[in-house]
Amino acid sequence: MKTITTHFINGKFVESKGKEILDLINPSNKKIIGQVTLGNEEDARDAIRAAKEAFKAYAKSTLAERIHYLQQLHDAIAARADEHIAIRAKEYGGVYLHSQASVSGAAKVFLNMKKSLSEVPFHKKLGQAEVMLKPVGVAGLITPWNAAIFMICNKVAPALAAGCTVVIKPSELSALQTQLLLECFDAAGLPPGIINAVNGRGDVVGNELTTHPDIAKVSFTGSTAVGKSVMRNAAETVKRVTLELGGKSAHILLDDADLEKAIPFALTAGFMNNGQACIAGTRVLVPEHRLADVKAAFRKAVPNLKVGNPTDEDTVVGPLVNEKQYNRVQSYIRKGIEEGAEILIGGEGHPEGLEAGYFVKPTIFVNVTNDMKIAREEIFGPVLAVITYKNEEEAIRIANDSVYGLQGWISTTDPERGKEVADRIEAGIVMVNQLYDLYNDAGVPAGGYKQSGIGREFGVYGIEEYLQTQAIFEK
Ligand code: NAD
Repeated sequence: MKTITTHFINGKFVESKGKEILDLINPSNKKIIGQVTLGNEEDARDAIRAAKEAFKAYAKSTLAERIHYLQQLHDAIAARADEHIAIRAKEYGGVYLHSQASVSGAAKVFLNMKKSLSEVPFHKKLGQAEVMLKPVGVAGLITPWNAAIFMICNKVAPALAAGCTVVIKPSELSALQTQLLLECFDAAGLPPGIINAVNGRGDVVGNELTTHPDIAKVSFTGSTAVGKSVMRNAAETVKRVTLELGGKSAHILLDDADLEKAIPFALTAGFMNNGQACIAGTRVLVPEHRLADVKAAFRKAVPNLKVGNPTDEDTVVGPLVNEKQYNRVQSYIRKGIEEGAEILIGGEGHPEGLEAGYFVKPTIFVNVTNDMKIAREEIFGPVLAVITYKNEEEAIRIANDSVYGLQGWISTTDPERGKEVADRIEAGIVMVNQLYDLYNDAGVPAGGYKQSGIGREFGVYGIEEYLQTQAIFEK
């Protein structure tokens, strides 16, 4: 059992001033595997002070220095990739394939930022003015538990590239994963105070970051409900805000879709990361006349997905993160039944033989209408809602009939048609027939429309979130 009693402040692991202790539980067997001491407001203020002090020098660092630090951070994380994957399975239930991509993505984001940094127009002559891009100041980074270290790295990298110093408030449910990452940050050998991190609750440490006057920018990834309160808090001191929030993305199977490809794609899009993915395609829109074939294809494919031990390399769906999430998903399955949807596969309870952990049955509902709760609300588990449509217009209308707009998914044998439909989907990213590798170095922006968020991450777009312009007129 590992005990974490420290935060990472000003280049050192310092004992927590907060005293509350939280048990860390392995979701595959509900055993306690560690404990973390949660920080209080004072810990948060210490970290903000360190970041503010470090900002004075770091804001003036050269691009060469930043590039050097980004490389060091990449190397330090990559060197311990296997440990990151192992602890992600143990603390979170992350299955091997997803963890491998997520961990290598977390390291790679630092390399990608080196490339993107060279594309940022830091100086520009406009008319009589010189326009410069300058770091906004100390950034507060608040992250969720579902891709813990990737989410942290995907904020730290652009913030540091821009010249900001940071205070991280990771999810309290990911303390073991965070600790290993902080050891990597420490090993990277950056000057003290550039990266700081405080474990703690959202309403304590998170709240301090969103209200403290010395935090210039908050980048938050998490639920839409908390995101709204972050924005309200940040308004008081007019902080810059990036919000990466929830989703209820539609996967449109166009009437020409090849089900041999579209059904496995729908399962990948829907059940990735044990169904705990903001971008998951959880509403599967199917042409009415192809419903029988779609049902048969799901019935055939789902039993072949291995649910179980996340460390087995062939496991597709592992456990949910904790008891709260397990109960939440069960309650949505009950709501679906109560609202009149029909369970095609799965349902309430544990899969047979997996009663010891927070495992749920991959579940597919049919006879769903878009006004049902299971079609409107983010469930965050391996539960798909199949909704039928009469024609393409109706499919697009249903896809866009959501408060969310994070992602769209389309299956078709005609890529041109897929692109035309994608153009009409209200979402930050639309994937036509493919699971695009977000971790590549092209710097493609990701982020939400509507209540899925504000701002963008990745590439130059991601760095710009941490910059502000200054125009100097000189005679
Ligand atoms: P959450 O909103 O409960 O918590 C996210 C973070 O915010 C945690 O660190 C939490 O401690 C902190 N927090 C909670 N209350 C706070 C407050 N009052 N002030 C400041 N911080 C506070 O989300 P979660 O349950 O950890 O993660 C799941 C959610 O994250 C899902 O809704 C998912 O869609 C979303 N998500 C979005 C993206 C994206 O890129 N759009 C990516 C991953 C997850």
